[in-house]
Amino acid sequence: MKKAIINARIYDYETYIERGYVVFDTTVLAVGSMNEFTEDVEDVIDGDGMLVLPGFVLGHTHIYSTFARGLALPFNPKDFQDILNQLWWKIDRQLDNDTTYHSAVVYATDALKNGITTIIDHHASGREIEGSLEALRRGVVDKVGLRGAFCFETSDRFDVEACIRENRAFLDREHNGKTAAHFGLHASMSLSETTLKRVASSLDHDPIHIHVAESELDQELAEKQAQTRVVERLDRHGLLHKDALIVHGLFLDNHELDILKKRDVTVALNVGSNMNNAVGLPRYQELKNRNIPIIVGNDGLSTSVTNEYLTLMQTMHLKEGTPLALGLDDVHTLIETAYDYASRRFKVKLGKIKPGYEADLIAVPYDPPTPMDAHNALGHLVYGLFASMKAHTAFVGGRMVLHHYRVPWNEKRAFNDARNAAQTLWNRITKEG
Ligand SMILES: [Zn+2]
Repeated sequence: MKKAIINARIYDYETYIERGYVVFDTTVLAVGSMNEFTEDVEDVIDGDGMLVLPGFVLGHTHIYSTFARGLALPFNPKDFQDILNQLWWKIDRQLDNDTTYHSAVVYATDALKNGITTIIDHHASGREIEGSLEALRRGVVDKVGLRGAFCFETSDRFDVEACIRENRAFLDREHNGKTAAHFGLHASMSLSETTLKRVASSLDHDPIHIHVAESELDQELAEKQAQTRVVERLDRHGLLHKDALIVHGLFLDNHELDILKKRDVTVALNVGSNMNNAVGLPRYQELKNRNIPIIVGNDGLSTSVTNEYLTLMQTMHLKEGTPLALGLDDVHTLIETAYDYASRRFKVKLGKIKPGYEADLIAVPYDPPTPMDAHNALGHLVYGLFASMKAHTAFVGGRMVLHHYRVPWNEKRAFNDARNAAQTLWNRITKEG
């Protein structure tokens, strides 16, 4: 059924309309100024006082990390491996499909309220590997209505064959524009030479999704295990295909960056998480100089992505000693790169409010305190809204998934179920010690 949002400010990083309308079903059908609005549409939403934007893409997260919130474990890490051992690996090895599903529902709900309509996830669950990506899909896509790209973090910690089967099954399932898949690998540091060979033989030019050089430890272990650096190691195994998602990439030398460029991969930066783990910062300028596509994720540290753009900006200013290190033009490129990447992976057109693009739209209350036009709209967005992006209404593929800040299903019950699932998980973790 045709719907319309009218009387709204509309901005898609290319065009700004002061008082406009957008008509859509599953895709955008028409957009323009209100003085040209002649469409006969039954389902009309008054967007007066709202800014309508394309929904945001979250470039890298771990949905299961939701259940770390409030969990107090003995924590005294000496290095990055300790952070994994003392926290994340204690959690993920106790996850089963039921916990995964509940984490997906609450994570996607919060992400949606923060303006995200597409999530790219990196998942691990030790108790149940098989069916875990379907559990995520049921939560994120079926229940909450977002788009989701899923993969399982293959690692020598788990049954490697089961990890491969789970990735393969999700890659090979039918994707209808709402789902996409990567071949998931945890990180070079948790993968033996035998495992990498086995993974290479099961890839059909599929893009991998892997943490790379998140800490120096990843490089040290690659030298030890394979007498080479991480990116060279992955490349030597033939694992870097177009659109592989390389996460973090903090400790890469110039030769490794050249390989990333040559293989046409994309890098997902998550500086909030890097600072939180006290591991280091990415070489943004060197990635940019090589025209390596960069997108932004949150690594599961929050359920938002707009704040991560601000964090990346501020961090690079400090790192380079100049507020020119990452400007609004760069933010623009990062956002467009995320839409281009997601459009290729989901095989639909995302990120513009113009005919033929998916109707993934968010409406955010915004009354500009200063004049707003096509030239400064991005500045309004970044400095006025990115610190606290709260969607009032949202559509994904034309389906209304949020209205008046509420989802159209029993959210209270779902969060109650999630708390119960989290308690069960925490009991397992405590029991294990
Ligand atoms: Zn991550």
